[in-house]
Order: sequence, then C-alpha cells, then structure tokens
Amino acid sequence: MTKAKLQTAQNLTRLGTESAFEVLARAEALKAEGHDVINLGIGQPDFKTPGHIVEAAVKALHDGHHGYTPAPGITQLREAVAADIERLRGVRVDPGNIVCVPGGKVTMFFAIMMFGEAGAEIMYPNPGFPIYESVINYSGAKAVPIPLVEEKNFSFDAEEVLSLITPATRLMIINTPANPTGGAVPREEMDKLAAGLEAHPHVAILSDEIYGQMTYDGLEHVSLLEYEHLRDRLILLDGWSKTYAMTGWRLGYALWPESLVDMATRLAINCHSCVNAATQFAGMAALEGPQDSVHEMVRAFDERRKIIVDELNAINGFSCVTPKGAFYAFPNISGTGQSAREVQDKLLTEAHVATVAGTSFGHLGENYVRFSYANSVENIRAALTRVRKIYN
Ligand code: PLP
Repeated sequence: MTKAKLQTAQNLTRLGTESAFEVLARAEALKAEGHDVINLGIGQPDFKTPGHIVEAAVKALHDGHHGYTPAPGITQLREAVAADIERLRGVRVDPGNIVCVPGGKVTMFFAIMMFGEAGAEIMYPNPGFPIYESVINYSGAKAVPIPLVEEKNFSFDAEEVLSLITPATRLMIINTPANPTGGAVPREEMDKLAAGLEAHPHVAILSDEIYGQMTYDGLEHVSLLEYEHLRDRLILLDGWSKTYAMTGWRLGYALWPESLVDMATRLAINCHSCVNAATQFAGMAALEGPQDSVHEMVRAFDERRKIIVDELNAINGFSCVTPKGAFYAFPNISGTGQSAREVQDKLLTEAHVATVAGTSFGHLGENYVRFSYANSVENIRAALTRVRKIYN
C-alpha cells in the first residue's frame, strides 16, 4: 500500500491556536492521574445555563424544530437580538443586519477573512484574545498590535491607536471589557478614538463586546455602537457564551453594517448553514426571559474579583491591578524573576493550579499570567494558598 503524501495549504502554517485549550488538556491529564487540579485557566462561567433556557431548547426539540433555519437565524431570534441591543445600548437597529452564528469566534473569523489579505493591515489588541492575531496571520494580512499596558489599566491611548492607522489599514479590532486583562476602555478614550476615526473612513471596526454586561464598581460599558458616524462600518460582536453561561451551546451574533451583511450571510451559508435550531430557541429564551441569573452571576464574579486581587497582591513577586470587567485577573509576575510560561508551568505541575501564560495572548503578555476567577470562592482561596506556598 502506498503511504499518503499530502500537501496542505501554505497559509495553514500561519494559523495559531488558543493555549487555554492546551492548558485545559494538560489539567485534565493531571486530573486523570489522580491530582486535585484547580482550574483557573479556562475562560468560561462556572455557572450552569439557567433552567428556563435549557427548557426552551428541550421544548424546541419536542416541538419538531429539527430542520435547517434561515442562515442568519430564525427571524424571531434576530428580532430578540435587536431588542436586546436597544435595551443595553439604547440604539435601535435593523434585525435584518443581525447574523447569528455558532459562537463569538465565528464573527471574528468572518470579519478578518473579509478584510484580510496580503498587503492589508489589521489592528488588534495585544495582549488580546489569541484568535485575532492567529486569523489575521492566516489571512495573509499584517497584524498590527494595539498595545494594552498596565500603566493605562490595560486600556489604550486613543491618539496612539490612531497613529498606527496607515492607508493599508482595513480593520481595527477593539475588545472592551477585555480578555485576558480585565481592562475596560473608559468613555473619554472611546470618545477620542471615535472622533479620530472620522478622518479614516477606510477603516472598518470590529467591536468585540462579548463581556459587555460584566463591568464592576459601577463602571459603564461603552459600546462603539453609540457613535452614530461609525455605524456604516461597525461590526458589533456579542453572544450568549459568557452572559448566559452558554459556552458549549455555540451561539453568538453580530450586527453587521448594511454593506457587509450579505457577505456575512454568504460566509455562513458556505461554512455552517445555520446555528442548530434548538440552540436558537434557547437563545431567544435567554434574551426574552428574566435576567436575574445574569445579575447574580456578575455579582458573584465581583465578589471573587476582590478576593483574587487581594490574594494575588499578597504573593511575592506578583502585583495585580484591579480588573474593571470580564472575569480575569492579569497579575504582573516579573518580580518572580521567571517568564510567564515558567510561572504557568510551575503553577500547573507543582501547585496543580491551571492558569494561562500572558504570552499566549501576544508578545506583550510577557511578565503576566491570566487567572480566571470563574470558579468558586473556596477554590480560588485554595488555589491561591497553593501559589503562596510556592512563592512566599
Ligand atoms: N471574544 C472574546 C474576547 C473572548 O474572550 C471569547 C471567548 O473566550 C470569544 C470572543 C469567543 O466566544 P465564543 O465561545 O462565543 O466563541
């Protein structure tokens, strides 16, 4: 029998990954060996999807919703999304511009593939969600980092961001509140950015607001949708994964500008046809039903946030700014004298605490490690006690 000799596409060599999944696999392997691993590595709520949402999906299956749906989503779901956008952001939008997809990542992939090719430039947050840089590189475009630095509470200076725009810039990715830093862009900076973008009508904006409902200390979430002059080039990414503890359901949406919505739908048809029907019914129930569980979850994250920041600041060599949103703490670990990756590995192998090295989120993440506080207070305290034993 002849052995296969396959040649895969060259651009695949440029595709990166999301290391949190690798850490998860290593943590699971340690667990399988009988170790008691505390997972502060994975970016998903530790809460269950609220019961009424699960019931809506079960009912949809019993009611016979087993077939394809329109590619951008069931009309009622798109209407529910439009109503939710209006409730949260105070802006009325056309449900026809909403495309529901299997998770927030899909919108990201579509937007980057729409604009990315050799010769193009795409700006993205660094440290930031790793898939931005990965897919930009895959597309052949040049990945231009928007530096997020601790001194600015992991936000940015709008003038600095605007200065990075060139005639080749096609897309700018903004994520607030942010993964992995927990930073949130304040209104003043967002105003400056939005105003400055007027002079650059060739730049589309992908605003990843998947943590938009998770801000603390009374901080308002500033949505780029509020800026009317940007709406004909703004892609608003949001979804159910984090807000409704639905990461495994795979459901997200984007509001596309009029000029791009058909292209997004075409990509959906080529890629996945539609989101599975029962999940869409669950999504409707989430948006149209009671929101208490969202508020309760955010309240719990807030409590844990304060605990983890205090605990991290008590560890020799660690210093942690207070995150403003999402559910991640991003301590500076330079005082340990070890690299981010060394700290990640030491914590996993010696303390059996899973975290993710800052470098998994871009080169500017060196000196930082991401701790997700989407875990119980008890586990957070136990994990940090183990970390303290190593460094104090
Ligand atoms: N955007 C950001 C900033 C994220 O952190 C994540 C998930 O961690 C996503 C998008 C993707 O979400 P989903 O699981 O819905 O694809």
